[in-house]
Amino acid sequence: MTTIVIKIGGGEGIELGPILDEFSELVKSGVRAVLVHGGSHETNLVSEQLGHPPTFIKSPSGHESRRTDRTTLEIFEMVYCGKTNKGIVEHLQTRGVNALGLSGIDGGLWKGKRKGAIRAVDDEGRTTIIRDDLSGKVESCDAALINLLLDSGRTPVLTPPALAVDGDDPGKSVAINVDADRAAAITAAALGADELLLLSNVPGVLADPSDRSTLIASTAEAGIDAVREAAGGRMKNKVLAAEEALNGGVKRSVIGSANGENPIAAARAGAGTVFEPTANPA
Ligand code: ADP
Repeated sequence: MTTIVIKIGGGEGIELGPILDEFSELVKSGVRAVLVHGGSHETNLVSEQLGHPPTFIKSPSGHESRRTDRTTLEIFEMVYCGKTNKGIVEHLQTRGVNALGLSGIDGGLWKGKRKGAIRAVDDEGRTTIIRDDLSGKVESCDAALINLLLDSGRTPVLTPPALAVDGDDPGKSVAINVDADRAAAITAAALGADELLLLSNVPGVLADPSDRSTLIASTAEAGIDAVREAAGGRMKNKVLAAEEALNGGVKRSVIGSANGENPIAAARAGAGTVFEPTANPA
């Protein structure tokens, strides 16, 4: 039976209704489908409304990530695990899909490591060290828990945060903000999924991010280096995730659009940037 992990982005301009309807049909067709979602845009809005505007950390290499102090983590949980996750579960339930929402900390589903010291470059170009950030990276996914749900007819709807564990001391476990694309990749690999679809507000990896007609159709055609080079900002994590999934045994990853007509079928048919294992890895 086909297993697919689909990650729907939380960026601006994604209309969730139509893609959730299509996802429901996929589930009803018998595919073992797992949904992973983000919520970055909504988190920014709610953070502003709550008087704790989002701030971003820039690493010396130019990589940007959300500064996650305790208050930010709480707002993040309200939006990701609350409004967004329950909104998706509600929508799927109305379509006859027995969706079940879980964050990565529930049941210890996604475990990872918290970043220790983060080097951040401020506007004046000075480097500072941040030691109290609640962010990190997922390293493992409890596939048995997901399979338990799928086997009982439930459809998992998964979202950050994840659980950072420190050695064998549970007292030091803490919820961390993690990238949902990378978490989806780890999940797909753990499940031995056939496909990972990373769907967001852009048609795929663009050679020129400002020009939607410059889509790179596949790594086989353009070469993985060209795809890595083209990906800036938040697209970098998607490319890393697509590659991680393949390295973990997933047969195919596609970075594609969450909008338009039947975006899931389109991505499965190859619309977007397709990553496939190379026949002769270098
Ligand atoms: P989501 O949160 O919906 O998963 P992101 O906003 O994290 O999606 O990532 C997609 C964003 O990546 C695009 O909106 C775009 O601003 C940015 N991006 C950077 N480089 C590229 C590129 N080469 N091609 C496409 N998008 C790119």
